Amino acid sequence: MPRVLVVNTGSSSIKYQLFEMDGQSVLASGLVERIGEAGAKLTHRAGDAEPLVVEDRIADHSDGFERVFKAFENAGGPITDLAGIGHRVVHGGERLTAPTLVDDATIQAIADQAPLAPLHNPPNLLGIRITRASFPDTPQVAVFDTAFHQTMPPRAWRYALPRGLADELRIRRYGFHGTSHAYVTRKAAEHLGRPVAEVNLITLHLGNGASVAAVEGGRCIDTSMGLTPLEGLVMGTRSGDLDPAVVFYLHREARLSVDDIDDLLNKRSGMLGLAGANDMREVARLVAAGDQAAAEALDVYCYRIRKYVGAYAAALGRLDALVFTAGIGENNDTVRARVCQGLEGLGVKLHAKRNKARNGRARTISADDSAVAVLVVPTNEELEIAEQTLAVVGG
Ligand code: ADP
Repeated sequence: MPRVLVVNTGSSSIKYQLFEMDGQSVLASGLVERIGEAGAKLTHRAGDAEPLVVEDRIADHSDGFERVFKAFENAGGPITDLAGIGHRVVHGGERLTAPTLVDDATIQAIADQAPLAPLHNPPNLLGIRITRASFPDTPQVAVFDTAFHQTMPPRAWRYALPRGLADELRIRRYGFHGTSHAYVTRKAAEHLGRPVAEVNLITLHLGNGASVAAVEGGRCIDTSMGLTPLEGLVMGTRSGDLDPAVVFYLHREARLSVDDIDDLLNKRSGMLGLAGANDMREVARLVAAGDQAAAEALDVYCYRIRKYVGAYAAALGRLDALVFTAGIGENNDTVRARVCQGLEGLGVKLHAKRNKARNGRARTISADDSAVAVLVVPTNEELEIAEQTLAVVGG
């Protein structure tokens, strides 16, 4: 009965899930929040038992992991029978293009990508180092958010910048959410009952962060996020696509520093900047209450997605299915309807009733005579990491 522990270490958080891989069930899961801050908290869930909650100062990540291991002991026993530990790592750059067994060279390679993801790769590495010390005999695997997109051809990943400069600084489009795009690609093909190599998909990961991928026969050929997750769709707090001259203009006219602009575009823009709320449920409440700014924000949000669908339909040439996933993609039928509105020319015909019906499984929401299938496929990045980990360790 192989078990895999999946770990996602952030700057002030640790998320984890312990899987039993034969039945693909979650034995335990949890979250450590606000590490090193006031109000730190560990929530640990195991089976149907009441969650175990610890509210205490959690000094640092080592302390956080210690608490997690203790929580396992207190709620049913220590972690045993581990086939491997899978770590989510945000940036693999151009070198780390597949799930990779962690050794000293991998650790160095992940560290080398840190300038490309300064907020993410260092804590991801910290998680790897700590669990490696705690489980020296258990293989660790790094699974990269960027890996799935490394099949993009140069015409999709190259920015039109001076080649030497871009190459030297590794400035190119990488794409993110790859684990999710990979997972829903596989699940969508399964749902359609066709080999993944035969279907062309546009996968729409619409969560707090959001990205689109054009997937040809299981291989990503284009995606909306770029050097960083800032490019592409309108997101909860990120602007997405923007004329880069806006940055110079903000600097010169509003006297904002580079760091201020970074903060503005990543944390105070998107739906939060447009509508005053980053959570789409709150935006929906505002729209229902007649808020004009929120209505326009939703319009901008859906229109941006629709433009990408059109672009990626052209990139693919033939489109078999449009796949919605993540918090908004899975739950917000209004967004799905508005994205699909006006796409009849591309062969997309939504079935209104199917679109509104709720259930947690992969499902078709297009009409029977829609040339392009429209699917909702719940994502599960943790399970994908667990499966990739098991594949690498040879389980
Ligand atoms: P993250 O990128 O943080 O993982 P999620 O994938 O959970 O985010 O997506 C967050 C977004 O999904 C929010 O805007 C939220 O409004 C929306 N969302 C999540 N769950 C639901 C739900 N049950 N019903 C409607 N909207 C939801």
